[in-house]
Amino acid sequence: MEKCYHSETDSDKDSPYMNILSPVSSLKGVGKVIARELGKRGVQTVYDLLYLLPRSYQDRRKFLPIHELRSGDTALIKGKILEVRRVKSRYREILEILVGDENGTISARWMGAPRYLFRFRKGGEIILFGRFRMSVKMLETYHPEIIEDGDGHEIGRVLPVYPETGGISQRRIRRIVMDAVNRFTQDLEDPLPAKIRGARGLPELGQAIKEVHFPSESSPEELLLRRSPAKRRLIFDEFFMLQLTLALKKSKTSRQRGIAFGIQGMEEPYRCLTFELTGSQTRVIHEIITDMSRPFPMNRLLQGDVGSGKTVVAFIAAWVAVTNGYQVAFMAPTQLLAEQHYLSTLELARRMNLKPALLTSGMGAHADKVRDGVKQGDIDILIGTHALIQESVGFHRLGLVIIDEQHRFGVVQRTILKQKGMSPDVLSMTATPIPRTLGLTLYGDLDISVIDELPPGRRPIQTRLFHERDRGKVYAILREEIGKGRQAYMVYPLIEGSEKMDLKDATKMAEELRGVLPDFHIGLIHGRMPMDQREGIMEAFKEGAIDILVSTTVIEVGIDIANATTMVIENAERFGLSQIHQLRGRVGRSIYPSKCLLVASYRKTGEAGRRLRVIEKTTDGFRIAEEDLAIRGPGEFLGVRQSGFYQFRVANLMRDAEILSEAREEAFRLVEGDPELAHRTYSLLRQMFRGSAG
Ligand code: ADP
Ligand code: MG
Repeated sequence: MEKCYHSETDSDKDSPYMNILSPVSSLKGVGKVIARELGKRGVQTVYDLLYLLPRSYQDRRKFLPIHELRSGDTALIKGKILEVRRVKSRYREILEILVGDENGTISARWMGAPRYLFRFRKGGEIILFGRFRMSVKMLETYHPEIIEDGDGHEIGRVLPVYPETGGISQRRIRRIVMDAVNRFTQDLEDPLPAKIRGARGLPELGQAIKEVHFPSESSPEELLLRRSPAKRRLIFDEFFMLQLTLALKKSKTSRQRGIAFGIQGMEEPYRCLTFELTGSQTRVIHEIITDMSRPFPMNRLLQGDVGSGKTVVAFIAAWVAVTNGYQVAFMAPTQLLAEQHYLSTLELARRMNLKPALLTSGMGAHADKVRDGVKQGDIDILIGTHALIQESVGFHRLGLVIIDEQHRFGVVQRTILKQKGMSPDVLSMTATPIPRTLGLTLYGDLDISVIDELPPGRRPIQTRLFHERDRGKVYAILREEIGKGRQAYMVYPLIEGSEKMDLKDATKMAEELRGVLPDFHIGLIHGRMPMDQREGIMEAFKEGAIDILVSTTVIEVGIDIANATTMVIENAERFGLSQIHQLRGRVGRSIYPSKCLLVASYRKTGEAGRRLRVIEKTTDGFRIAEEDLAIRGPGEFLGVRQSGFYQFRVANLMRDAEILSEAREEAFRLVEGDPELAHRTYSLLRQMFRGSAG
């Protein structure tokens, strides 16, 4: 008997043990084929299905009288069949049904005149849902949906329209979803504490899910704009869970033991500077060293536009670490950057009485000497590239880790470097201003310091966009600027994996320029040159022996030559906006007015032109970053390294910034009050975050 019972597959499907994490195939009406198609959409479990949200809605709450229909309307109508006829068009047969009510007539048409429609007869009644367009004589609709007896649940309500799923009909999906919604939303446990729901005016989870699929009251317009409380609730959830993770992580770090650096005698490093710090720099230094003096590991991000003076801030932090008897690791993403940091800070390091060393790959035997010095503790600051995280690098007493352009490193790389010390303080730096919303999700567990002013005396940079075919005008400007005794950069984009091509472009351009501007000295620099050769060229440029420096993007950051006042960016359409902004920051460092000239191939109406105009109009790094983010999306914006970036199902960082703030506030408040999520109303959350809490 029992065996027999088990062979009844449909009884299995009604098993009381089925839960929200059961595979979708355990739902009625979901066989192998449908399960596979849903799987392609990322829907594996009933839970996933509940989160397969409608992409739009159809308003089928009432019949629209035919005379109220306007061309372009999508509507539900009911009428009498006035005529059924087959019309031969040039290519195919069309079945036309004329439908009328008291005040109007429309034409419903089906190409190919499908046979199953032949049963409709003049005089009968018909209900149609479709999109209507005015033709010569009357409103027409092609292939409208026919609603028949037994389709009751398809009308009289707002219906969800789901994302296209491998040819499964909307009706079918709706039925499956409705089944899941009816079965699982009723007593769905809600992890969001009632207190927060109440404070933020959010419905219960089950209610919200039900409402989003099968809205009861709100108008479809409201739902689509994501303003309905149900939709807000789902968006809030996504942000809240992420923020809770961050809050727990932060709370955990802040309870670990770290180094409490002594911060007396701060006048000393200040005396070593050749300029006055800006107010912003002074403020962030204060934030950083206060943090360093606490007995917990610092985890801080220093944000500041190109040229805002982050390096000197980092060096003052380094001074604190070293005078406390610790070493500093300073990691930069490229060899050239590391070299430039090293060279440009040698003088400052000497005055501060710090012993720096450079470590990059391919340094040969000299690297062994550096590694020895680091191990012995003879070297105070080790500046370098990824070479720093090699196993062979061991510190005597690492106390501070500085990571420049931190978003260009992966989590693992940062962690390895940190682990070379005992809970060292970490100062990450970035010149890519991160839009607030993105920062809150990505760096939500970090403390953030922002330098929001540039050193005095900088002049705004005039930026102009030129089409490739107007290249002559660019040369004319160069001639004029250099004639006045200034210098210029000309940069080619580095495209991942095609260094050769950029090199070719840059080399060719250097040749071309020598022909066009024969009176000037043209230099070429690129990432494949040996370091001493590059140093020689940079030196020549610094001394004014080179007028125009053609380069690949390796000079992207860090170079600092006041007399260089023109930046030409070639193939600008290939750069991200933030990258162009960085490059532009290489000029405008003196009393002379500076120019940034973008040369690009683009169409007047195209995307590239639109993007580049943003750069033309504003020099505000934050605005540019927002724009860049909006255009390219979070993954692209941050570059390859972060492509595994958190994906939201419902929420959208740009659109839902306000909800993000609310969710963050609630999550951090909750953890602050109860870092172990111990209260009984948090029991579900505690289960979800097992391991993170406490
Ligand atoms: P970034 O934030 O891009 O790393 P840097 O640290 O390279 O900027 O600083 C850019 C230039 O500005 C450097 O030449 C640096 O010496 C100089 N600088 C930094 N702070 C000041 C200041 N307060 N006054 C004048 N010059 C400064
Ligand atoms: Mg810098």
